[in-house]
Amino acid sequence: KNLKKYFPKNKGLFGGKKFFVKAVDDVSFTIKKGETLGLVGESGCGKSTTGRMLMRLLDPTEGQILFEGNEISSLNDNQIRDIRKEFQMVFQDPYASLNPRMKVSDIIAEPLIVHGYPKEKREERVQHLLEVVGLNAYHADRFPHEFSGGQRQRIGIARALAVNPKLIVADEPVSALDVSIQSQILNLLKDLQEEFNLTYLFIAHDLSVVEHISDRVGVMYLGKIVELADKDNLYKEPLHPYTKALLSAVPVPNPRLKRERIILTGDIPSPSNPPSGCTFHTRCPFAMEECKKVVPQLKEISDRHFVSCHLY
Ligand code: SF4
Ligand code: MG
Repeated sequence: KNLKKYFPKNKGLFGGKKFFVKAVDDVSFTIKKGETLGLVGESGCGKSTTGRMLMRLLDPTEGQILFEGNEISSLNDNQIRDIRKEFQMVFQDPYASLNPRMKVSDIIAEPLIVHGYPKEKREERVQHLLEVVGLNAYHADRFPHEFSGGQRQRIGIARALAVNPKLIVADEPVSALDVSIQSQILNLLKDLQEEFNLTYLFIAHDLSVVEHISDRVGVMYLGKIVELADKDNLYKEPLHPYTKALLSAVPVPNPRLKRERIILTGDIPSPSNPPSGCTFHTRCPFAMEECKKVVPQLKEISDRHFVSCHLY
């Protein structure tokens, strides 16, 4: 609810005036139990920062995080410990997030130890988790470097599942993988969701990656959600010019299904000095005078389809 994360920058410089990078600037959304919300945008748009705040790896500057109705953003480390296991993260680069000196069995057992899982049942649990993600007991005594990228991501997923979480924040879990491996991992995540009734926040920089896994999709630009809709509505009838531009980069399987093509020019502006009004106006082919002055609000245009743009 109204989440903000401002990082201070150049403290005390420039005549004592403080500058802030507005990494996340007033973002609100809900994720229903068992659903997948895709969160998409270019690098630096604030999607990872949003995910890390939900995981309580970062404290919000402002706003609330509610988990099953309970406010968790103001809990201290002791208070958070009990509900910590309910949400887990899967990272983009499984190699960087797996300790190279630890055996796979120890990597997967780590959250079990942290959360006090009975010692005598640990080994059995690790074996089970390996099987659940498509690996086997033979892999338990090996080290991360002995695995392919896809297998390493399976290990990361097994570790995330170890303590039976309810919510998984997956931050670009397939971006570092070959295209041929990506769909295997996406299918695995989908199967696991069904099997364990998991809820996902799935972060990606590319709309094509989240299309098959998401129930709803939110598009972020410079720290704000600019469009949020049910998956089918977003892909069939994108409203925000930025969403249309992102979709222009995705090949359409049926060429008769014509999409308006918008090719973006220019770089994403710096979040420490974002453009006035609609922050997309510097790159938007439809920008009007009003767009430079007035910040558009996220509005529900049709059933569960939200967009923030003066065209609507
Ligand atoms: Fe483009 Fe204006 Fe809409 Fe922003 S508000 S996306 S600049 S038309
Ligand atoms: Mg990121």
